[in-house]
Amino acid sequence: MYDYDLLVVGSANADLVISVERRPGAGETVLGSDLAVHPGGKGANQAVAAARLGARTALLARVGDDDHGRLLLDSQRQAGVDTVGVLVGGAPTGVALITVDPSGDNSIVVSPGANGRLTPQDVSAAACLFQGSKVVSAQLEIPLETVVEVVRNLAPGSRFVLNPSPPRPLPSEVLAACDPLIVNEHEAKVILGGSAVGDAPEDWARILLAKGPRSVVVTLGAEGALVASPQGVERVASMKVEAVDTTGAGDAFTAALAWRLGAGESLAEAAAYAARVGAVTVTKEGAQASFPTAAEVAEL
Ligand code: ADP
Repeated sequence: MYDYDLLVVGSANADLVISVERRPGAGETVLGSDLAVHPGGKGANQAVAAARLGARTALLARVGDDDHGRLLLDSQRQAGVDTVGVLVGGAPTGVALITVDPSGDNSIVVSPGANGRLTPQDVSAAACLFQGSKVVSAQLEIPLETVVEVVRNLAPGSRFVLNPSPPRPLPSEVLAACDPLIVNEHEAKVILGGSAVGDAPEDWARILLAKGPRSVVVTLGAEGALVASPQGVERVASMKVEAVDTTGAGDAFTAALAWRLGAGESLAEAAAYAARVGAVTVTKEGAQASFPTAAEVAEL
């Protein structure tokens, strides 16, 4: 019998990054820096973030039988993630081609590759992983029908956490399983379908909650987060830090929150801890490279 604090079901990408003076327009070629290759993808990021904090973590994902897939498996194992659920083959590993200019603005092309081949059948075949997990988290860089199968496979008593990124409208079956649904401002607006909701994040949280999730968390960058449940809406403060690179903050926040919820904390307590994890993450460059250990969070 497996015994995990967190099972992450999601994407694994190789991030191929080139710094450029200016991002190319149509038909244009520009020269850039040496290529940097980093393990990424929201699923892989969440799993590494949780394991680094000390959570017993497994990843259910699909990578290609190629060097990028091996890079991703290595980074998961180094962080202490159980990769028994990482399937290999069927398509090349997902890739994000990223160009970054000196102001930090970027252009990104994603090839989902193997992430798009993580099927509902892959999920049902991994039922034993679900049986042994206190919390299951997912994002939307894998097919939506696969996420639907995830909520159908949740073990009795286990909790489901969803960060709907990249955002799209969600079926009520998925919404009803979320406890919580975790969104940033952009994701909140898309999930709300552009309905006229005003500028107050408290209102977004309430309206999202009315769509069916058991609870909602709205992350607000340096402004912290809001947690909403039928008991009401509460603000969670962020830590004052010098932000260097916010990449991965949402993934680290979600992983930390999911882990603490599984440990029995209330939503507000878990979000307060997750905000500390997010704050440490933004003080360092990179995504997986910036995720803290529990000791680093305690030092903050
Ligand atoms: P995403 O990366 O999905 O857009 P956010 O930027 O909202 O998510 O970040 C997630 C969480 O990380 C925030 O709710 C906050 O707790 C923390 N965080 C992000 N940026 C900062 C910052 N500049 N200072 C302190 N905490 C931050």
